[in-house]
Amino acid sequence: MLAILHPNTPLDSDAYRQTMHYLEHLPGVTVRVHEIQGVSQRLTEIYLLGDTKPLDKEDIEALPAVERVIRISDDYRILGRHRDDNRQTGFSYNGVDFNQSNLNIFAGLCAVDIPEHVEMMLKALEENGQVCTRMGAYKPRTNPYSFQGHGKGCLPWVFEKAGKHGIKVVAMEITHESHIEEIDTCLEKLGRPTGVMLQVGTRNTQNFELLKAIGRQRTYPVLLKRGFGITLNESLNAAEYLASEGNANVIFCLRGMKTEAGQPHRNMVDFAHVPAVKRLTRMPVCVDPSHSVGTREKSPDGILDVMHATAQGVIAGANMVLVDFHPKPEKALVDGPQALLMNELPAYLEDIHLCHDTWKKRQAIYQRLKGEVPE
Ligand code: PEP
Ligand code: MN
Repeated sequence: MLAILHPNTPLDSDAYRQTMHYLEHLPGVTVRVHEIQGVSQRLTEIYLLGDTKPLDKEDIEALPAVERVIRISDDYRILGRHRDDNRQTGFSYNGVDFNQSNLNIFAGLCAVDIPEHVEMMLKALEENGQVCTRMGAYKPRTNPYSFQGHGKGCLPWVFEKAGKHGIKVVAMEITHESHIEEIDTCLEKLGRPTGVMLQVGTRNTQNFELLKAIGRQRTYPVLLKRGFGITLNESLNAAEYLASEGNANVIFCLRGMKTEAGQPHRNMVDFAHVPAVKRLTRMPVCVDPSHSVGTREKSPDGILDVMHATAQGVIAGANMVLVDFHPKPEKALVDGPQALLMNELPAYLEDIHLCHDTWKKRQAIYQRLKGEVPE
């Protein structure tokens, strides 16, 4: 059961004290407080865990600090959608909104290599009105002898350049909890010219200690990739690990599933799950067409498979696109063969906006059926 307090309830008020006193003395029930700082208000949610079946919803709703009560299922307690649950989706970070209705595009380098390439990428993004990017400094590689990323050494110049080109959020994968501090120390030293969204890669989706460490910090939002060889339920539970430790600013990213059946693509594109994740949880949903498709193959209609896959995700309501670009893919140190080119950026953005608008129009079509078909 979840008790949502009136917004901005002071933690030293009588109403709060009386409410907590009552809840903490319920037999067989553990109380867990979760604070959410929104743009204009602070929300306190109190999770009642354990033997909550005998509890009366109305008794709890009558407590002085409680606004309303929601009965929650066991799955995805914080990030999930529950019956009678109209809590908001999403969050704002560094001036950018992330929710289940809007769309943000994170085009950029799979892996940071040399300053010239980063500069060319960021300049192209700025010229095309983009304020987000992806830049990999810590790369988890299958082969131990492959390039593992420049690590913390490249952070100062990457962040400086990002700030110079008006980038507000850089999606950056981390593979160890020490990387959080490396990023934070560097940003702080530079005066925070840009922001970072911590990315958990598909190889680390169930690295529970890493998830807990990332979940304990509230400074940076998180992009969690779906595990490529586990069920959707297992990946959504991984997201809940972040929230259960305190950080519910999580975006869930579909990136394809590892199976021979996915050929000729690198992975089996799973973007039909975009609406399923939005129905099961309140997380904004991202699609990564680059790591799903993994090539620059083109169909006879002249459109790259990466672009078709992007369109499929966005037209189904995706809220974020994470995509590899490179000014000179033949020189890229990681994933060059799947990178889109600088001169493809404007057309690609136009295509994405067309698909996002189409998704909105599709909703309007079905809205007309409301009341005519059973819910
Ligand atoms: C990436 O986005 O750079 C990446 C390594 O993706 P994934 O974890 O999905 O393989
Ligand atoms: Mn990659």
